[in-house]
Amino acid sequence: MDSKTNKLKCAHLLEGIAVSPGIAISKVFALRGEAVKIDPTIIRETEIAGEVEKFVQAVEKAKSELRTLQSRVEHRIGKENARIFDVHQLLLEDSVIIDETIGGIREEKKSADFAFYDIMQKYQSSLSESRQELFRSRISDLKDVKRRVIRHIQGDRSAHLNRFEGSAVIVAVDLTPSDTVKLDRHKVMGFATDFGGRTSHVAIMARSMGVPAVVGLRNLSKAVSDGVRIIVDGNQGKVLIDPDEKTLGHYRKLQEKYLDVGRKLAGIRDLPSITLDGKEIELSANLEFADEAESARTHGARGVGLYRTDYVYLSRSELPTEDEQVGEYTKMATKIAPDSVIIRTMDLGGDKNPKSIVIPPEENPFLGWRAIRICLDRQDVFDVQLRAILRASVGGNVKILFPMISGLDELRQCKQALDRAKQELCKQKTPFDEDIECGVMIEVPSAALMADRIAEEVDFLSIGTNDLVQYVLAVDRGNERIAHLYQHLHPAVLRLIKQVINAGHQAGVWVGMCGEMASDPLAALILLGLDLDEFSVTPMAVPEIKKIIRSVDYQQAVRIANKALNFETASEVERFMNKVVRQKFKELSS
Ligand code: PEP
Ligand code: MG
Repeated sequence: MDSKTNKLKCAHLLEGIAVSPGIAISKVFALRGEAVKIDPTIIRETEIAGEVEKFVQAVEKAKSELRTLQSRVEHRIGKENARIFDVHQLLLEDSVIIDETIGGIREEKKSADFAFYDIMQKYQSSLSESRQELFRSRISDLKDVKRRVIRHIQGDRSAHLNRFEGSAVIVAVDLTPSDTVKLDRHKVMGFATDFGGRTSHVAIMARSMGVPAVVGLRNLSKAVSDGVRIIVDGNQGKVLIDPDEKTLGHYRKLQEKYLDVGRKLAGIRDLPSITLDGKEIELSANLEFADEAESARTHGARGVGLYRTDYVYLSRSELPTEDEQVGEYTKMATKIAPDSVIIRTMDLGGDKNPKSIVIPPEENPFLGWRAIRICLDRQDVFDVQLRAILRASVGGNVKILFPMISGLDELRQCKQALDRAKQELCKQKTPFDEDIECGVMIEVPSAALMADRIAEEVDFLSIGTNDLVQYVLAVDRGNERIAHLYQHLHPAVLRLIKQVINAGHQAGVWVGMCGEMASDPLAALILLGLDLDEFSVTPMAVPEIKKIIRSVDYQQAVRIANKALNFETASEVERFMNKVVRQKFKELSS
């Protein structure tokens, strides 16, 4: 079809939500519809019991995965659309399919995947021969169930993620943290997904990897197949499939222009983040992996304002041991020293489901058993992490951050757990930084409203706008349908942020922000004017935010913030800030 604006040609042009800037021109690696590969293996007598168990477990895992998927789809696009999963559940409960597969393993000595594949193929063929359309239309359900169970028999689906040659754009319905954790990040040129919003996992991951991403594309994954050429325009939120030469040429030029802006900004990498009138601002990076520690410095950040330790848990099937964690955290701390690393205790749950902690499917996972709630119920897991962080503190400049705190009770329990961990280490004569600073993420509205009291019991506050915005505005951060309502420039959000910063300062503690809002050039001047002490941003946003900080007087930013806070709607604030940024930073908005 023709692009509306410039008559460029491609087989499909889809518009979604731009969540990570840049332009990728590559080929598709589609996570949906991957072909099932079966090795027709005949097993030994002694292996039968193990293969039967593997099959039974795989069916259970597939059922639980379907339940989670069903509630997500129901939540996002309605009950009707989620009905399809009822059919899949029924297939998984079909005793004929189950018994025949187990029979194939026991009697014909087929491996579990081979036996199940054979049975499903048999039913698939009889459905395709049926004269009734209704039966034929069930084939795709059968295929889906077949793929799902075989994936569980053969192991993690993320294992498939690296099966592509060279580099590619990953196309998927959605990507969970457990999918992306095993990606070979050097091979990924970009992401394009059907679901998602600005702060959904895939968006954060793309920005932290510095690759373009567009989400909320709805039907993209159905429209592509592996190897097809694709352009992901993370600046405009467009995805072009199978573009013609003229379109490619056009996007190559845009890509070059974008890279050129990046090269110019890189010139300020080693300069301090200081306003024209000399106010120093802490500008640090958000990181997910210890092996990416260098990217904080190469982008010009000082320190790490948020180290999400969740991936230490997501990348293993067992709980990480204390020593393994000490290894990861020390790696990060030593690479970043003498600058500080703020290590956030694990924030699992929500969309982050590790294999090692069973998180039962929930109606509202983001309002459910998440983060600190899990830690306080699983003191065994929490204690190990706290000891590991404390031990790593001797290797650098480490601070601790607790996520999803909703009030003082939880904070006090966290501090008790920290004291317990310190005492144990003292008893063992294991060294740690006894003055380690400890802070709280302000990402739940109740914590924001109690920030004055919370601040009296901690060393710093870090505002987590990714969650705070979703809870204040009642807008699911990962739902593309309502992504336009997820507005961090909403006056209610701005007022609350102002209140938190003032509360922190009155209690004598510094206040930072590690949510994605701190990486938004439109928000930066407002936050600066509200007297935010620390911006912890995605590495690729560091140069742009530094440039903004270095280009204004603090008092000028205060005036801008005051004006912004007087508007009544998010769109008014956005219009105003767009104008300010366009006038002041022509090169950023070009
Ligand atoms: C936040 O909520 O702003 C945040 C930084 O945490 P996460 O995105 O990991 O939930
Ligand atoms: Mg959060």
